[in-house]
Amino acid sequence: MSTPEASRLEALRAEVERRNPAQPEFHQAVREVLESLAPVFAARPEYAEPGLLERIVEPERQILFRVPWQDDRGRVHVNRGFRVEFNSALGPYKGGLRFHPSVNIGVVKFLGFEQIFKNALTGLGIGGGKGGSDFDPHGRSDNEIMRFCQSFMTELSRHIGEHTDVPAGDIGVGGREIGYLFGQYRRITNRWEAGVLTGKGIGWGGSAIRPEATGYGSVLFAAEMLARRGTTLEGLTAVVSGSGNVALHTIEKLQQLGANPLTASDSSGYVVDTKGIDLELLRQVKEVERARISEYAVRRGPSASFVADGRVWDVAGDVAFPSATQNELHEQDAVTLVRNGVKAVSEGANMPSTPEAVRVFQEAGVAFGPGKAANAGGVAVSALEMSQNAARVAWSAERVESELAAIMKRIHDDTYETAARYGTPGDYVTGANITGFERVADAVLAQGLI
Ligand code: GLU
Repeated sequence: MSTPEASRLEALRAEVERRNPAQPEFHQAVREVLESLAPVFAARPEYAEPGLLERIVEPERQILFRVPWQDDRGRVHVNRGFRVEFNSALGPYKGGLRFHPSVNIGVVKFLGFEQIFKNALTGLGIGGGKGGSDFDPHGRSDNEIMRFCQSFMTELSRHIGEHTDVPAGDIGVGGREIGYLFGQYRRITNRWEAGVLTGKGIGWGGSAIRPEATGYGSVLFAAEMLARRGTTLEGLTAVVSGSGNVALHTIEKLQQLGANPLTASDSSGYVVDTKGIDLELLRQVKEVERARISEYAVRRGPSASFVADGRVWDVAGDVAFPSATQNELHEQDAVTLVRNGVKAVSEGANMPSTPEAVRVFQEAGVAFGPGKAANAGGVAVSALEMSQNAARVAWSAERVESELAAIMKRIHDDTYETAARYGTPGDYVTGANITGFERVADAVLAQGLI
């Protein structure tokens, strides 16, 4: 790291950390991208233009607002709402909303920063943004969720629009929340503007396969990485973390492709099922009853056990799918997975592996698909939902799924080829960061100093 390019990137990293104190997740996401860029700066001198990188690490706009709401007992709560509109060089800001007590401005900025490059990788003309709230939906009634969503949208509605900024779901925001948010937007604006949110219900502007897309896409990305190594998912055991939308559809696609997912988890611990996960039961427990995951093991019988507060990565499997949240897979977990013979890791969540864990996988020669490539299927189908909304049509599930498969293959091939071009074959982290960066940087440069 002693070339002039590397020193300039190091100075920028230090400046980002100084100007954005107490935002460790944002620092981590920026550092990871900057670390990949030195060879691009050496090869493409136009990127050395003063101010280019400085603009890319600075959001175009950051919106913070108060979200007051009343619970079922009439008590008033005051949460904080966020929307970071990070970069619109390639299209309207696009990215999900996360409702979780851990949400703060640094978390939203890390997610928004990742989203810029992920969205560029889809090739579908979408900029990057992210938002959410520190609201905790856990244990709240439908009515409380509705009142919270209505209050949140009352402010957010001033800032979004189908040509401006298009939110969707993330952790804590699924079809139910998107419904309440869309209803309130429609009421305030008196417009049927289907393209203002994605992840809507089928029948009122939603796309087939949108709920499935992130999990399916992450498995398809793993299948592409394995195909490049001359093998398939068939007959392999899989370790999956999480039990939300991404994890459930990861398990579903793995089973369709003949693999055997053995685990699922939530914040209370994990379940391991030696017969393979019973998806119907897991859905009943997590989606219908919104209960703790231990309930799965209670009802499943002797093949399943619940491990409270354990590390799901202690379970041996051929492939791993971190599909819960950021920094859920540490260096020691990666060492354990490698020791147990893991062949591929595909990130369904955003930044689930720590930088130290990524290094362990790469040094061991494990095929590692970083989130911004491997989980781009969700936002890609969101872009397809926007296309359908603009044309006032609804495509069949078969059509959307085959488009998703083609997009995931293209993302895989583009990131693979970029990594090879820059002399690091098989390094999808470098490939994804450089491919995404080149697309965004070219558009930023072409559009002048704004
Ligand atoms: N929250 C998802 C992501 O991390 C999807 C965003 C969207 O569909 O806009 O990419």
